[in-house]
Amino acid sequence: MPTLPPPGPRLLLDATLPDGARADLAIDRGRIASITPVPPGRERRPAGPDGRNLDGALLLPALVDGHAHLDKTFLGAPWQPHRETADLRAQIASERQLRRVVADRLPVVDRAEALARRMAALGTGHVRSHVDVDPGVGLDHLYAVLEARERVRELIDVQLVAFPQSGVVAEPEVARLLDAALREGAELIGGLDPFGFDQDVDGQLDVVFGLAERHGVGVDIHLHDGGAPGAAQLRAIAARTAALGLAGRVAVSHAYCLGQLDERELDAVAAVLADAGVAVMTNGPARSMPPVKRLHERGVLVFAGSDNIRDAWWPYGTGDMLERATVIGLQGDLMTDQDLRLAADLATGHAARALGLAEYGIAVGGRADLVAVAAHSVPEAVAAHPERLLVLHRGHLVLDRLAP
Ligand SMILES: [Zn+2]
Repeated sequence: MPTLPPPGPRLLLDATLPDGARADLAIDRGRIASITPVPPGRERRPAGPDGRNLDGALLLPALVDGHAHLDKTFLGAPWQPHRETADLRAQIASERQLRRVVADRLPVVDRAEALARRMAALGTGHVRSHVDVDPGVGLDHLYAVLEARERVRELIDVQLVAFPQSGVVAEPEVARLLDAALREGAELIGGLDPFGFDQDVDGQLDVVFGLAERHGVGVDIHLHDGGAPGAAQLRAIAARTAALGLAGRVAVSHAYCLGQLDERELDAVAAVLADAGVAVMTNGPARSMPPVKRLHERGVLVFAGSDNIRDAWWPYGTGDMLERATVIGLQGDLMTDQDLRLAADLATGHAARALGLAEYGIAVGGRADLVAVAAHSVPEAVAAHPERLLVLHRGHLVLDRLAP
């Protein structure tokens, strides 16, 4: 059984809330019991042993990582030099070989746990992790990540997507494995470039949406295909989402094509996605990033995720969702305070909506999933991704740098 983290403080004094208001918060049995405005000019109060004085530090709802791969990370194992490959298939083959080497050093479960703990300590309270399901690993990675999730369940909530890293139609056995993964604990069904990888858009989407319908689960599809083929697949995904009444439960991860369309086509596709209730996840790639602001202004739910962290795909990544907001802000030319607030929303409220989190945000009666950071406003926190001062998960203490 996981050891329970210590109970957190029952009183948070003088926090700056995301809207700029100063408030004291009382916490009781893992929930926010009250939020009391602090009158201007109030003298500093001692918080006592059961409380913490934030001295005006920004208090955010727990950060949300909308897209990670807990099973892929090498974190905790010795550093692995990145191997460059010619294309996606070669990269997948390289990963298959490398993951056996790394697994001999440290099992998937321990690496997944290490990454989840790191995320939690950085204030992430919820993460959606895609988990490889392919003929090479079967359900082994799923079982490993389910065990890792159990180990960290008092620190962070983990949502799992059955991810066909080797395609769906290309490997006929995969459909059966995905079905099994959904029975064994995966909560969503994933996909991978129906055109670019499987060369069979309807074939892959038939399997993915068929499983979504049969199991009553949401969908989150990796779509790297660019330009017109990418846009056509977005339209196909939106059409199936609408037909199955899955609005609000379908996401497309990356959707690089949205960064390559002319404005008219971009707006047309954005309208289709917004109408169908299909969300778009970005991690702020240097090339072909979806235009976050324009999509948001056209009603598309855009959210953020880390994606690969120190694995066969990508040597970078820290799991810090405020740093991710900085990256997205830089790549997306988000400059004004309003823009920076949007960058923060991608990693907080927007991601919470995309993940279907029932209770989210700083509100009386809500879960005490909170992170205090060394900044005084949301824009500053995005610009600086500063030190985390205090992290609470269901009121339990995950990180405490404010202890008296
Ligand atoms: Zn991914």
